[in-house]
Amino acid sequence: MSDVVVVGTGPAGLTAAIYTTRGGLKTTVFAGIQHGGQLTTTTEVENFPGFREGIMGPQLMADMSAQAERIGAEIVYEEITKVDFSKKPLRLWAGDREIEAKAVIIATGATAKTLGLPSEGPLMGRGLSTCATCDGFFYKNKRVAVVGGGDSAMEEANYLSKLASEVLLIHRRPVFRASNIMVERTKKNPKIKLMIPYEVEDTIANDAGLTHAVLRHLDSGKREEVAVDGLFMAIGHRPNSTVFADQLATDENGYLKVHNFTATNVPGVFAAGDIADHVFRQAITAAGMGCQAGMQAIRFIEEHY
Ligand code: NAP
Repeated sequence: MSDVVVVGTGPAGLTAAIYTTRGGLKTTVFAGIQHGGQLTTTTEVENFPGFREGIMGPQLMADMSAQAERIGAEIVYEEITKVDFSKKPLRLWAGDREIEAKAVIIATGATAKTLGLPSEGPLMGRGLSTCATCDGFFYKNKRVAVVGGGDSAMEEANYLSKLASEVLLIHRRPVFRASNIMVERTKKNPKIKLMIPYEVEDTIANDAGLTHAVLRHLDSGKREEVAVDGLFMAIGHRPNSTVFADQLATDENGYLKVHNFTATNVPGVFAAGDIADHVFRQAITAAGMGCQAGMQAIRFIEEHY
């Protein structure tokens, strides 16, 4: 039995583990399929405070993980596949292995949806991105494209327009899911050019990275090669909540619902980071929520055990 089980090893989970371990609680952290979370798929991180010159995403996560282990957290490289939060102690399974906990912190994050282009593996971070706030800075005075028609796409296009020389907003339908105010703001932005109805079929790259997006006009079927240095996919995120969805309250998109900072509807179960926050989605906000969840778990155990 652990005092605390943390599920997920992104900034939220590892920060939570640092706090609970330093609070004297035996803490087991399950790394899941992507140890380190979404930051392990990015390149340079310049907006996490404390690193004057910035830091590479995978390095930041390796350091956070080593810090949690040095303090005494146990990191297990397995995935939680089943949970039973119906009674105390809380129970979780990683395959056949069962673990009990007085408190659980869920920090399984969200996965950015991608287009499924053949080049996605090799070009991710070299022209392809799923996060304008993270990578936009590298496209100063360059021509970029954003794919999507929701609030995320509008927000990313407007954000990028402050950095890039031109932003192409590529959407597959004449109708947008985004709120009217965001659509109007985007249409009025002189640096954003709407390309509708188009889909991205492929990419062209050289040794330095992406050079063109290959688009298809969905009415005429005509293919076009459009020169861009960056292609941002803003087509939504999928919260990694499937394992918990039958036991914890979620919103209509599957994000875990929290109240009183990080408390879920089950006493002793807390949620932190992108699994519960679809608005900010930043490493630093996830780490902040991880801290809150860790401190709330400590308080919960003090009060109930
Ligand atoms: P979303 O609203 O689900 O929009 C996803 C967009 O991507 C849609 O336009 C969709 O096109 C397009 N898309 C999906 N799959 C695609 C594919 N394979 N190829 C091409 N296009 C594809 O997602 P979101 O924009 O991330 O927003 C998610 C939630 O967060 C929303 O509730 C949103 O309001 C909220 N949010 C709010 C803010 C804010 O308030 N500041 C900012 C960001 C997000 P179709 O329309 O054709 O399906």
